[in-house]
Amino acid sequence: MDNYDYIVVGGGLAGCCLAWELHFQNKNVAVIADAENNSTLVAAGLFNPITGKMLSKTWQAEKLFATLHEFYRKIEEQTGSDFFIELPIYRPFISIEEQNNWMALSENPGLQNFIEKVFIRPSGFEAVLDPFGGIVVKQAGFIRTDIFVEATKEYFKKKGKWKTEKVNYNDFIFSETKEQVAYRHSSAEKIIFCEGVSSLQNPWFSWVPVRPLKGETLTVETTLSKEIILNRGVYAVPQMATDTFKIGATYDHQMENQGITEKAKNELLQKWEMIHNKPTKVLSQQWGIRPTSPDRKPILGLHPEFKTIGILNGLGTKGVSLAPFAAKVLVEFLNGKQPDQTYQTLSLNRYYSLYWKSVNKA
Ligand SMILES: Cc1cc2nc3c(=O)[nH]c(=O)nc-3n(C[C@H](O)[C@H](O)[C@H](O)COP(=O)(O)OP(=O)(O)OC[C@H]3O[C@@H](n4cnc5c(N)ncnc54)[C@H](O)[C@@H]3O)c2cc1C
Repeated sequence: MDNYDYIVVGGGLAGCCLAWELHFQNKNVAVIADAENNSTLVAAGLFNPITGKMLSKTWQAEKLFATLHEFYRKIEEQTGSDFFIELPIYRPFISIEEQNNWMALSENPGLQNFIEKVFIRPSGFEAVLDPFGGIVVKQAGFIRTDIFVEATKEYFKKKGKWKTEKVNYNDFIFSETKEQVAYRHSSAEKIIFCEGVSSLQNPWFSWVPVRPLKGETLTVETTLSKEIILNRGVYAVPQMATDTFKIGATYDHQMENQGITEKAKNELLQKWEMIHNKPTKVLSQQWGIRPTSPDRKPILGLHPEFKTIGILNGLGTKGVSLAPFAAKVLVEFLNGKQPDQTYQTLSLNRYYSLYWKSVNKA
């Protein structure tokens, strides 16, 4: 038997960030992850403190953004890889009213940490259509999720602590004292499932309201300023190859089709043409399914009955900025910290009633 403090199941943003946080806290942690396509590898990897139609500050923006900068930079140092890119986001205004609103809002002291500049005339950024100017958001950027996942995998693999396989739920054994849980030839104090939308198939956590939200992106070749990430209805994130960008994303709750669709491609290109004025050639199209939650907050904590298993999920549309913070909150709780308001907001406890309902029905 290999004995660990923790086993993490799933190697997307949730699983990787949790494994790192446990490792930083000197816990003996192993990851078991299949090599299937996931939300993380499709993601454009944007982190943006000011989001939504109303341009509001992200929940807990100050804490989230301070945490994510330190967290990803530390992993870059430990792995010798390069995946964290800081780049301002430029959001053109669509009307003079919006411009006026923003001139007023930008005086708000709570937002000033995140606003670099407001343009009231066209900015002059290459190939950008912005007759009413726009706003430049700082503390923003993107991570190259493929490099982040690969670097994490290599790091833990070298230590013999990353297994590539799909976990079979029938192979778990819970000890009679309920203090240990074993999976095949490994045992741990706790196993934390970070399975994205696959958690709906997990026999212990299928009652957790993880809601699938399909998204599609395009990889395109075009001309565009590399000083900013253009973002208005759609975003364009620079890729490794020169003049190649990822344009995204769609939000499809209905999930009528698996795979890429013509409808999503047209929707993205239509929005793109409203903010960009140079020819664009589509090279490829991608799709994935985001694991969202009803209140748009991550879901973390231990099972109501089996205290040796837990979950980290529900990262939704903002996995890059939420995962490091959520992993920290979960590990503090696992380390015995008294639950505070932030933990209560994210805790799986808020959905325990769904579990008891499902048990009583069975
Ligand atoms: C089109 C699109 C664009 C996006 N753009 C952004 C963006 O710009 N910025 C941002 O912050 N977020 C973005 N997201 C959201 C982001 O991708 C998610 O929030 C995040 O990746 C979710 O991570 P996760 O680890 O919870 O799930 P996943 O990435 O789905 O990872 C779960 C992993 O667990 C594995 N797994 C499941 N069950 C098992 C099992 N039994 N055994 C072993 N392994 C298992 C799965 O195969 C998968 O690899 C985007 C998503 C999509 C679809």
